[in-house]
Amino acid sequence: MPSRTLDLTRDVALLTADLMDIESVSGNETELADAVEAALRTLPHLEVVRDGDSIIARTSLGRAERVILAGHLDTVPLPSVPGSRGTVPSSWDGDVLYGRGATDMKGGVAVQLALAAGLADPTRDVTYVFYDHEEVEASLSGLGRLQESFPDWLEADFAVLLEPTNGTVEGGCNGTMRFHATTAGRAAHSARAWMGENAIHGAAEILTRLRDHEPATVSVEGLDYRESLNAVKIWGGTAGNVIPDAATVEINYRFAPDKSVEEAEAYVRNLLSGFDLVRTDAAAGARPGLDQPAAASFVAVVGQEPKPKYGWTDVARFSALGIPAVNFGPGDALLAHTDNEHVEADAVRACLAALRAWLS
Ligand SMILES: [Zn+2]
Repeated sequence: MPSRTLDLTRDVALLTADLMDIESVSGNETELADAVEAALRTLPHLEVVRDGDSIIARTSLGRAERVILAGHLDTVPLPSVPGSRGTVPSSWDGDVLYGRGATDMKGGVAVQLALAAGLADPTRDVTYVFYDHEEVEASLSGLGRLQESFPDWLEADFAVLLEPTNGTVEGGCNGTMRFHATTAGRAAHSARAWMGENAIHGAAEILTRLRDHEPATVSVEGLDYRESLNAVKIWGGTAGNVIPDAATVEINYRFAPDKSVEEAEAYVRNLLSGFDLVRTDAAAGARPGLDQPAAASFVAVVGQEPKPKYGWTDVARFSALGIPAVNFGPGDALLAHTDNEHVEADAVRACLAALRAWLS
């Protein structure tokens, strides 16, 4: 039985605080998931399923379009610095709500729940997705698990992820991939360096090409995605008197969503031709999907110029399912994961008002 009962009909900013007061650091989402599930099951207009600590609820009104509203229940760990306000329980300073999850993303989850309770007769069918383990490695993602266990529940024409965007629409996201570029040399005593070959010096050319590379800005469906290509780590060498026989540069490429993973990989391999490159991970980006009718009407209701999203987010998981997806949620993403995490009550209320207007 859930230890706490959520009142989904109260002011959405107060509901945000209620959600924040149930600590749900990744791996510890059960109490919050129990409370969310129990509240959703009281709503006769929704069908509800649960898998682990992920929950899906949906209307089935036979509307022409179906949209997904998605949010994760987990947060990053609580601040370790004593006295930090971005913690549990939450606290108010005037109309500003402080605490873990204020922006990332219990305000967004509160908006989902308020809509779920308040919109018995939406103009589009709505699927509400709440999931666990977003803030940890991708293989643990509750959203990924739901895609396996309830694929037919995740069919839709458009998806909105209520991650913090300060109330603007952020479309799509850049993809990301990493490589190890390795150079080989020949070890020797550094007093007789001419007997060896220095692999760290060999890596200089990799760094030169990366430094001189000018990352592109790519326009996709009217949004400008700025790319970046960087060395992010470097290691090599064995001792202070040995010519190093191996060196490795780790490289991260953030690529615009006009490119597939394969195209992005080919681009980096071409730039660093002649070097031994191993791709260590990759995640495709997501096109913004702003050419879809549901997306266009959503942008019109929000009434602000959409922006591109540079970081990788779960919109890419929807994109991989063929569902265009955007981020739209209350709060400043730059405050997410900080010891000072907070959100303004009116930001949460405005997000709710915009989504309600779009779906009513
Ligand atoms: Zn988040």
